[in-house]
Amino acid sequence: MSAYDYDLFVIGGGSGGVRAARVAASMGKRVAIAEEYRFGGTCVIRGCVPKKLFVYASQFHEHFEDAVGYGWNVGKNTFDWKKLIASKDKEIARLEGLYRSGLVNNGAEIIESRAELVNAHTIRLVKTGKTVTAEKIVIATGGAPNLHAALPGHELCISSNDAFDLPELPRSIMIAGGGYIAVEFANIFHGLGVDVTLIYRGKEILSRFDKDMRQGLHNAMVEKGIRIILTDVIENVEKTAVGGLLAKTKTGETIAVDIVMLALGRDSNTKGLGLEAAGVDVDQRGAIIVDEYSRTNVPSIYALGDVTDRVQLTPVAIHEAMCFIETEYKNNPTAPDHDLIATAVFSQPEIGTVGLSEEDAAKRYSELEVYRAEFRPMKATLSGRAEKMIMKLIVDAESRKVVGAHILGHDAGEMVQLLGISLKAGVTKEDFDRTMAVHPTAAEELVTMYDPSYRIKNNQRI
Ligand SMILES: Cc1cc2nc3c(=O)[nH]c(=O)nc-3n(C[C@H](O)[C@H](O)[C@H](O)COP(=O)(O)OP(=O)(O)OC[C@H]3O[C@@H](n4cnc5c(N)ncnc54)[C@H](O)[C@@H]3O)c2cc1C
Repeated sequence: MSAYDYDLFVIGGGSGGVRAARVAASMGKRVAIAEEYRFGGTCVIRGCVPKKLFVYASQFHEHFEDAVGYGWNVGKNTFDWKKLIASKDKEIARLEGLYRSGLVNNGAEIIESRAELVNAHTIRLVKTGKTVTAEKIVIATGGAPNLHAALPGHELCISSNDAFDLPELPRSIMIAGGGYIAVEFANIFHGLGVDVTLIYRGKEILSRFDKDMRQGLHNAMVEKGIRIILTDVIENVEKTAVGGLLAKTKTGETIAVDIVMLALGRDSNTKGLGLEAAGVDVDQRGAIIVDEYSRTNVPSIYALGDVTDRVQLTPVAIHEAMCFIETEYKNNPTAPDHDLIATAVFSQPEIGTVGLSEEDAAKRYSELEVYRAEFRPMKATLSGRAEKMIMKLIVDAESRKVVGAHILGHDAGEMVQLLGISLKAGVTKEDFDRTMAVHPTAAEELVTMYDPSYRIKNNQRI
């Protein structure tokens, strides 16, 4: 019998923490998991899941419009924000219940409290003040929105956390940020009928994505009526006498809106966690430093998921948890694989992407072939919607391997999940060419782009 209260203590009941705790408990380990808010973490409670439900809600407006071209006579429709919130809350409560029962049914002990480290093997439960010990500790405390305290008036602004529970749907919103969360919420609010302004300091939204995706989405959003301000930032936010907000930008514009939402990145949840007391190292931004096996510099303490600021996505946190289990409890050292992660932006239209952007591939490979198709999807013909899809394959001319695949258009997220398998398997362009098309689909374009649209040699387009 171990001298510790538990074999494993997990701090944080989100995607990564719950997976590590549940699987370790199912193997007969004595496991406890502490959560200070709600089990399910960011993804289930105020991230991926409610966001995707909001995306669905916001798309009906266009579905109703499109239906007319297909012969439907759509009557007057109205939208009830409070009803959406109530339905969303019901669904996330159901999911939270599943997370809890998965833990309990596998024998993990649930602790509803904030937990902080006292030393390398001891944890303090803040609710009761009690301390417990564990042979191994996993920190999976995730991240939180950066509230941009240096911005005058930041306390008048909301973050993505608040956007999920606004008491009323605003008439207008200004969203600061150019990452996927800012872009997705701009599309969600626009689809629900809100007047949306997106402001971003960079030259184009979604800085780490392929340029065709960035520009294509930007154009589509502007076409819909979303205002995008680039190379500018909010300098201060003030309340007006009549209840709304005034956002002043650095270039001197003053914009009146009901709500300002800041989506300016996320910080690791490490403040007050007792990392210093336990001797755990963090980087300059407060993220926990780990090695390839998610081990911190303290041998009994591990960290995984967003708190380590590697790749901040739910499947990555879960994968890191599974690698921790393999390494520590199955005697099978397994380092998380962060290469070729397929991902989506649930904007409207969506982006699905895997592998290198054209710009990054051009820096890494001496010669590339770029296959690019831009077309009107079939559904848009009868609906009359001015909508373009873009598909792009980046091929290393020497090995013939497809090193990047990018899609802008409906269902891009679904398509790129499957492309992710192909790229992971190391497929060549010739494998795409040998694959029979599925007709009529939008995805068939991916296997029918026979000639390169252009080549890039030594980082120069030829
Ligand atoms: C708006 C939004 C949309 C997103 N959309 C997507 C998406 O579409 N796809 C995708 O893959 N990812 C998405 N993400 C990212 C995804 O949610 C995270 O990558 C994922 O949740 C990380 O999991 P985690 O286990 O590391 O942390 P989290 O899920 O954040 O869980 C950490 C948990 O720890 C708890 N906690 C913190 N400190 C303590 C403490 N001291 N004691 C006890 N408990 C503590 C927190 O309350 C939280 O529940 C989105 C995120 C946001 C904010």
